[in-house]
Amino acid sequence: MNVLVINCGSSSLKYQLLDMTTEAVLAKGLAERIGIEGSVVEHKPTGKDKVVFEQPLKDHKDALDIVMAALVNPEHGVIKDLKEIDAVGHRVAHGGEAFSASALVTPEALKEIEELSELAPLHNPANALGIRACMELLPGVPMVAGFDTTFHQTMPAEAYIYPLPYEMYEKFKIRRYGFHGTSHRFVALAAADLMGEKIENLKLVTCHLGNGASVAAVRYGKCIDTSMGLTPLAGLEMGTRCGDIDPAIIPFLCGKGYSVEDIDKMMNKESGVLGVSGVSSDFRDVENAADAGNKRAQLALDIFHYRVKKTIGAYVAAMDGVDGIIFTAGLGENSGTSRAAICNGLKYLGIQLDDEKNSKRGEAMIISTPESRTKVMVIPTNEELMIARDTMALAKK
Ligand code: ADP
Repeated sequence: MNVLVINCGSSSLKYQLLDMTTEAVLAKGLAERIGIEGSVVEHKPTGKDKVVFEQPLKDHKDALDIVMAALVNPEHGVIKDLKEIDAVGHRVAHGGEAFSASALVTPEALKEIEELSELAPLHNPANALGIRACMELLPGVPMVAGFDTTFHQTMPAEAYIYPLPYEMYEKFKIRRYGFHGTSHRFVALAAADLMGEKIENLKLVTCHLGNGASVAAVRYGKCIDTSMGLTPLAGLEMGTRCGDIDPAIIPFLCGKGYSVEDIDKMMNKESGVLGVSGVSSDFRDVENAADAGNKRAQLALDIFHYRVKKTIGAYVAAMDGVDGIIFTAGLGENSGTSRAAICNGLKYLGIQLDDEKNSKRGEAMIISTPESRTKVMVIPTNEELMIARDTMALAKK
C-alpha cells in the first residue's frame, strides 16, 4: 500500500510517498513560493538525483499537479500510475476539541477543519486547501487528516483550563491545546520500543526541541500535559518566540505606545533565542557565537536549557515519577552540548549520560549509562511516517 503524505503551509507544500509494506520513502519533495514570484518544486526520488522545476504556481493545486506528474514521470517517477496511490495523509495544524485522533476526511470533517481556522489562522486554511486540491486530483482516494493537537486531547481539565473566567473557555474555546503532537506521540512509541517495555507501563517526558519547541508529559501512553497552549507561542524559549512571559507585560507595553500587533510580532518573530542573543534564531549560529565568547548568545542558551529542565521537573511532578526522557527535532537530535546542559541539572533523577553516546548524531538510541535510573534517549522524529501509519489504518477500515 502506497501512502502520500502532504504538509501544506500558506506558500509551501511538502510531500512524501511511502510504501507502507516496508515503510520506505519512495520519493519526497517540496514546493515553495506558491502564489508568489519564483515558485519552485524540488522532487527527490529515493536513490536518484533531485529534479528541480521552476515555473509559476498560482495555488496549491498547481503545485500538486507538478508533484503528481513528477511521481509518475518515466525518468524520475517512482510509480507508473496515480492509481498506485492508495491513500493520502494530510498534516493539519489544529483539531480543536472536535478531533481526538487522526480522522478520515469527510465533507463534515473538512468543514470542521476550515472552521478551526480561527484557532490556527496561518495553518488550517492552507491545510484545507491542500486537502481540497488532492480530492480534485485523486477522486475516490481516501484522505486522512493527522492533527498536531490530537495527542494532547487526553490532558485532564486541570492541565488545559486557564484560570481565566470560565466563560472564556465556554464562549471562545480558549484553553491549552498543545502542538507537535504527532512528533511527541511518534517518539514516545519509539522510546517504549527502544526500552523494550510496553508504553502502558511507562512515564515519559518527550522534548521536541527545534525552531519551535515543546515538552510533553506522557503517562502510560497518554499525554497529560504539554508546554504549548492555545497557540504555539507558550512554554519554552524558542528560535524567535518568547514562550511563557508575565501576561501583564502586554498591557504594560501598550501603555508605552506599542500596538497589540507590534507586541504580537515582537513575541512571535523577534523574541526567543534571536531576541536575547541578537545573533540569530538558529541554534547553531547561537552556539557558535557563545563558543566565541558572546555573552548574550550564552544567556539565550542558558535560558533555553533552564526552561527545558524546569519543565521536565514539573512533568516529573505531574506524573509522580519518570522512566525516560526523550530528545527529538533539530536541536534535540543534534546538539549533544544542549542535551548535556539540560541533563546536568537532573542528577536527582539518577541520570548519568554516556558522553560518547551523547556525542553521536542522527540515530535512535539510549544515551544514558546502563546504571542511569532514568533512561535518556535521542529519537529522530518522523511525523510523516506517523501520519502515514494512521492513514493506512483508517483507509483500510
Ligand atoms: P523546525 O521544524 O521547527 O523548523 P527543526 O526541528 O528543523 O525546526 O530544528 C531547527 C533547529 O535545530 C535550528 O535552530 C538548528 O540550528 C537546530 N540544529 C540543527 N542541527 C543542529 C546542530 N548540529 N547543533 C545545534 N543545533 C542544531
